[in-house]
Amino acid sequence: MNRRGGWLAPALLILGLAGVALAVARGGRWALVAAAGSAAFVCGLTVPALVRRLPRKPRARALDFSHTLDLLRRAHDAHACWAVGLREGDVESLGEREVHEDRRRRGAALAQLASVDGRVHVSREPHGTYVAVGDFPYGAGVLLAWPDAGAEFTDPVADELRRLVATMRLAELELPEAQGLVVAKQLALAASGTQTLEGVARAAVELAQPLAQRGAAVVTLEGAGAGVHVVATSNLVDKRLAGLTLSPEAPVARAIHTGLPVVTEGGEDVFGPGVPERRRRERAGTAYPLLDGHVVVGALVLIGPPLDPDAPVADQLGGLMSELGPRLAAARALHEAERRGLLDPLTGLCNRREFERVLDRYRADVKTKLEPATLVYSDLDRFKGLNDTLGHAAGDAALRHVAGLLQGAVRDGDLVARIGGEEFAVWLPRTPLAEGLEVAERIRRGVEGTAWRWNGGTHTITISCGVAGFPDPVRDVANLRGAADAALYRAKQAGRNRVEKATAAS
Ligand code: GH3
Ligand code: MG
Ligand code: MG
Repeated sequence: MNRRGGWLAPALLILGLAGVALAVARGGRWALVAAAGSAAFVCGLTVPALVRRLPRKPRARALDFSHTLDLLRRAHDAHACWAVGLREGDVESLGEREVHEDRRRRGAALAQLASVDGRVHVSREPHGTYVAVGDFPYGAGVLLAWPDAGAEFTDPVADELRRLVATMRLAELELPEAQGLVVAKQLALAASGTQTLEGVARAAVELAQPLAQRGAAVVTLEGAGAGVHVVATSNLVDKRLAGLTLSPEAPVARAIHTGLPVVTEGGEDVFGPGVPERRRRERAGTAYPLLDGHVVVGALVLIGPPLDPDAPVADQLGGLMSELGPRLAAARALHEAERRGLLDPLTGLCNRREFERVLDRYRADVKTKLEPATLVYSDLDRFKGLNDTLGHAAGDAALRHVAGLLQGAVRDGDLVARIGGEEFAVWLPRTPLAEGLEVAERIRRGVEGTAWRWNGGTHTITISCGVAGFPDPVRDVANLRGAADAALYRAKQAGRNRVEKATAAS
């Protein structure tokens, strides 16, 4: 709107009024009708524009909360839910099963109590368990169907109620322009203490879902040239999507690559092809790019019809997204730095530290489960000779060649690490010794049988392996490393390019 033309309207108004006055004073009846008619015409033109510019009511209607309460109640298969303290009155959500009047009053009263004292109230009664939380003047409560729900059920419910109460406060803030900032602060608060990518993304989807009244997901770009990856989903989104790498043709990938929001319609899955088929038609939605400065780091996906860009919630989500972009970028930088600390820079395999960590964790877990596992130690044969004749650069290239072969010989979930100069460890969880021996033999044969080329020449590399199995024959995971090492030593002693297995005594 051009503000410099602002004087025009009052001037025309005065002119028009003067015309009407003149018509009344001087003119005949038809002149009067003409003047009044033109005034009505102008009003007809301007009134809709005026009405459009009237400030919208910034608050969410109580109706929105009845929808959220319904979702909450259904998610927990609860008898009833309450939200109290809203300016437009208290809201109650009841399921199909009839809830006795006394119980309805009791639930609402507990929510009221929580709204005043700000505490969590859990009351286990013969007909079900009440959970209520509050933050003055708002309170929310639920009546779960089980009489004796344990803390493992009531704690997550209390967390969800807390988020609902926070949303009620946000929705009733008077100043729409401040709401984005408030939501940004909420995210900062929810994500504080968590610096992981998953932690930040989870905090964001849990805030976005009740705000938008839609399922939410955070998708990030995994570094240059890599795919887009679903980091977190809210509980209204299919859980199987979390952790998936998406197709580059996915609408959400398009939003990330172009930096523009992408809306899918007519049942087109916003996550694109190659994701779990079930309920795909319900996954039309909008993908909003998330920025760190000018760089797109990911996208926030909201499932369902597009949001009205003029609605207060759009402002709130804008605040959320402007806080989320830089936070995700920082978490990702940390994640990548950590990851680099776990990897061997020459081969890209895990390093010794990561190998030790994985084995120690297995040792801790094994107290609760007794699954077999096999450890293979491998060492290149007469590698010093190769280095001495072809040079160190050739030695490095040969190490990368063998690393590739090792990685190719194992399954997802196995771990290959470079634990020394030309020594590698292959960790095969859930693999009994007999299978582990086969893997080791496959590795030995693969290294011997795959020619390695250097400077136009072809060279044969061989490798020796020592294999130790848990629980047979090594009964303690702590002894696996020593046993595999001793077996490897015997393989060298016996002439190299062979696989030896550990004995119970080793
Ligand atoms: P063996 O069959 O008994 O294992 O003989 P070997 O020559 O492989 O054994 P040794 O442990 O004596 O020598 C290992 C050699 O590996 C020493 C070094 O020249 C080479 N080496 C260790 N780390 C690296 C590395 O990072 N790059 C290169 N190029 N060579 C390395
Ligand atoms: Mg060696
Ligand atoms: Mg060695």
